[in-house]
Amino acid sequence: MTITLSIIYLIASITFIFGLKMLGHPETAKKGNLIAGSGMGLAIVGTIFLNNSHVPTFVYGLILAAIAIGSIIGWLIAVKVEMTKMPELVSLFNGFGGASATIIGLVEFSKNIGDVMQTTTTMAAIIIGSITFSGSIIAWAKLNGTMNGLIRLPKYNLINNLVILGLIVFGAYMVWTGSDSQILLYALLLGALIYGVLFVIPIGGADMPVVISLLNSLTGIAAAITGILYTNMVMLVGGILVGSAGLILTVAMCKAMNRSLTSVIFGAFGGGDAVASGTKSELGEIKSSTASDVAILMNYSQRVIFVPGYGLAVAQAQHAIHELEQLLESKGVEVKYAIHPVAGRMPGHMNVLLAESNVDYDKLAEMDDVNPEFKNTDVVFVVGANDVVNPAAHNDPSSPIYGMPILEVADAKQIIVNKRTMNPGYAGIENELFYNQKTAMLFGDAKKTIQALISEIKNM
Ligand code: NDP
Repeated sequence: MTITLSIIYLIASITFIFGLKMLGHPETAKKGNLIAGSGMGLAIVGTIFLNNSHVPTFVYGLILAAIAIGSIIGWLIAVKVEMTKMPELVSLFNGFGGASATIIGLVEFSKNIGDVMQTTTTMAAIIIGSITFSGSIIAWAKLNGTMNGLIRLPKYNLINNLVILGLIVFGAYMVWTGSDSQILLYALLLGALIYGVLFVIPIGGADMPVVISLLNSLTGIAAAITGILYTNMVMLVGGILVGSAGLILTVAMCKAMNRSLTSVIFGAFGGGDAVASGTKSELGEIKSSTASDVAILMNYSQRVIFVPGYGLAVAQAQHAIHELEQLLESKGVEVKYAIHPVAGRMPGHMNVLLAESNVDYDKLAEMDDVNPEFKNTDVVFVVGANDVVNPAAHNDPSSPIYGMPILEVADAKQIIVNKRTMNPGYAGIENELFYNQKTAMLFGDAKKTIQALISEIKNM
């Protein structure tokens, strides 16, 4: 490796670290992404043109063509993807990362026979990469509805543990014997692909984003392993950053849902087969309201808190809600947004969505900070959120979301809930908040409803 290439790798690694730090805040996230992306671009160009190996010219052509095709496909997917489909896209990207590590492992296998360290790394790249690939494809299929529900083999935990143990022993055997058998190699690959499927199929609906975050972390680990394989520092640093950031996110999400990682992997939650925590008749009557009544209520309030959820993303109502916020503020109403850490379908979903419509970041309040404020709030406007405001999390030990921290909106003086129907949210359970004496339902699509509120307030 030339000294220039070493310097390029160092610069790229620094851009990854700074980029990742900047991704932690919506105001700097875009710039952070650009900085880390430029670092990656620099590292790729440096690797292609400054390496010491003698590569035939046509290989450069192949590499550049592959980069061009991949970039165009990636760019098209990224500009077209809807915010609601983001977790699926992340899942697919994880899968591609895993597939790359596997392919590198397969290509490098025969070159490294006899070198214990290198074959161990190759085996690890193949096993982890394949698990990530097949697991991510199953996660993607579950998120987009191609595959529904939980599929549980009898004694699936025992089977899964035996399969992973078997894979490790198999890989170790190949390293130990210095085997060059392609049959054994592809048997190992098949085993790892099967384990990836077995690992994800029993995991339920609401836990899927946690699994995706975990698979994301595995992609990073697979990349780091290939970095060791090629003694490539920038691959190693990038992989370690993705692996550790993914793991931290996984733990943070489990905490926000009051779940342990082992209960996500070995337990059941959500998945559409959750039970209702009460029947309609037990919970009482619902009251519905109209846009003009809610407009009057908001217009004459002092403090209003918006609670956005997944439905806001589905309706693409982020610009409309920002306009409503500005309109109310111009009338002297204090407005804030209460953000639940798992509102939506991926962590930070609401922050990203509201940042897209230029909502002032200071107006977004985290759950722990905003919960004590609800009691001094005149109106809480829940828009397309359901599970994150469900009091069953406190009141009903039999509920699948029992123990999950929620936004305590029931403490406010008046609660307005906007959704289209009385259908449940992601966890598939009834919400007693809708039957609260202080709650009025405002049925309709979030965007259209907010637009109606805006025109009512403007006409006052
Ligand atoms: P929910 O899925 O609980 O509720 C969303 C609500 O939006 C639905 O009740 C739906 O009702 C309504 N809705 C859908 N489309 C529209 C529309 N066009 N206009 C108005 N309303 C609409 O979402 P929350 O954000 O409250 O909760 C997130 C869920 O995801 C939780 O269960 C959480 O645990 C889970 N989750 C999130 C993770 C994350 O990282 N963010 C991680 C793991 C799980 P209707 O159909 O009647 O309109």
